[in-house]
Amino acid sequence: MIYYTLSFAQYYQHLIQVKVRFKAQTQQKIWLPTWIPGSYLIREFARHIESVKALEVSTGNAIQLQKLSKNQWQLHNAQANEIEVSYQVYAYDLSVRGAYIDDERLYINPAAVCVAITGQEDSTVQVQLEIPERFSRFELATSLTVVDGHKPTYTLTASNYHALIDQPFELAEQACMSFEAENIKHRVAISGRHDTDLKRLATDLGKICSSQIRMFGEAPFKDYLFMVMATANSYGGLEHQSSTSLITPRDDLPKSSEPAKPSVNYQRFLGLCSHEYFHAWLVKFIRPHNYVKPNLHQEDYTTLLWVFEGITSYYDDLMLYRSGVIDHDAYIDLVKDQISRYLGNPGRQIQSVAESSFDAWIKYYRPDENSNNAGTSYYNKGALVALCLDLTLRQHGSNLDQLMQALYQRAKNGQHVDEHTLPQLCQQLTGNDMAEFFHHYVNGTTELPLQQLLAEYGVSVQMENKVWPLGLKVQDTPQGLLVQQVLRDSAGAQAGISAQDTLIALNGLKATNNLLQQVGSHTDPMPAVVCHAFRRDELKTFEIQGGGFMTSAAKLLIEDKNRLRQWIDNATKS
Ligand SMILES: [Zn+2]
Repeated sequence: MIYYTLSFAQYYQHLIQVKVRFKAQTQQKIWLPTWIPGSYLIREFARHIESVKALEVSTGNAIQLQKLSKNQWQLHNAQANEIEVSYQVYAYDLSVRGAYIDDERLYINPAAVCVAITGQEDSTVQVQLEIPERFSRFELATSLTVVDGHKPTYTLTASNYHALIDQPFELAEQACMSFEAENIKHRVAISGRHDTDLKRLATDLGKICSSQIRMFGEAPFKDYLFMVMATANSYGGLEHQSSTSLITPRDDLPKSSEPAKPSVNYQRFLGLCSHEYFHAWLVKFIRPHNYVKPNLHQEDYTTLLWVFEGITSYYDDLMLYRSGVIDHDAYIDLVKDQISRYLGNPGRQIQSVAESSFDAWIKYYRPDENSNNAGTSYYNKGALVALCLDLTLRQHGSNLDQLMQALYQRAKNGQHVDEHTLPQLCQQLTGNDMAEFFHHYVNGTTELPLQQLLAEYGVSVQMENKVWPLGLKVQDTPQGLLVQQVLRDSAGAQAGISAQDTLIALNGLKATNNLLQQVGSHTDPMPAVVCHAFRRDELKTFEIQGGGFMTSAAKLLIEDKNRLRQWIDNATKS
């Protein structure tokens, strides 16, 4: 057993005191993850670790400790002894992926706080929390097993280190409620300042959870916890096996005045819940083969995030419709937005979703002014690949629900997912070789056959032109128009305008959004636009030949409601 003690006495300066007790093995090392599963960026949690010390418990003698790398330490001459390692963690990261403590909230992802004992990662873990008086009136929200909840200490357990870091916990003032979905208990704990209609949320979430459990036939958890933090405008979620941690704008939570048809804001929150909940099956239970025990010391690559994030993104919206929380018009609107995002992304012609998945660590998670030109999103395009796959499977007598159910059954037999799994299962389900589909739309950049496939299911896709004046996306600032993005090969790009330039004049007049639209949106030959701009503090003059850069946006029309229902209603016949 590995024993952790976390003390929060210095919450006001965001410091956690950690002690870890264990029996040392030969050449014992300890380490901290560099990333947290579900979020594919090296986060270097060890940069917040301070004053690491070790001692022999029986004698109190110090043990020599050497830092080996950014996230690893070596104990010397500690073999077979009971050792206590102590250190301090600075915890002031409000995201769902880190640790945050202040005078109102203790929120911990153990991946950011609890070191692993090399070679002993499979040992049972016990975590004792020492809670300051200030927090004693609050309840603890976590999916970890609480063996002792007598304040001011809590004792929690996990079956091993990987289970520990999959279960964040929070101690704060929370609005709590629970509901049953398919006889499974679900809890919701909302912290932060908000005014949520808990009854309404329970009703809608209950329907969404039921729909998902019914699609898979069962749930891979015994109970489930939604941990929600309400703020002014932060947004994000992280999936876990039997819980999720969400951060949301408080305006996305339903108030008592919430209309029967969810507002766009509330729909966004329900979509976030639906997404993270679906992950309990897809990515936490049905896993890429290398994420059963991921390498947390460095990037652990997969070309399959389009499956785990893309298919999840397809279902998160679809489940809002199937559960009856939104109607078919609202669902088709969500599909339209997804298609318009795809069409407005020139990078889809350069990067495939398989490449986008593999390079998530250095590209998707590190967006810059060139991302839209050269990259594509495995969420956005992945969701549309899933839509095309669903409709293609339906042409051959199957559907994506059946593929999901097959993946779930395989996972129950201990089989995980690699690059060959989906093409093989599609062949089994339809009797057809679908390798071409994966070749073109997953590993290649062939335009998705959205118009053709949707037409067969009663939806016509009409393209509308979207003009970027001079190929620029700008932000109005007191100094002028700040260029955020320059579309590759556009008039602005050809003239040398670059991201971060501030346009101050166009044809001798003060640069404004209106003026840019006027001089930069035409598509016929026109005289050059003379543009004055600052690059850093240096004034430059550009002569821009040509006008707007065209991309497309989609408009979707429902032509045949019955055929649409054949697709979006739960048509599973398994
Ligand atoms: Zn996700």
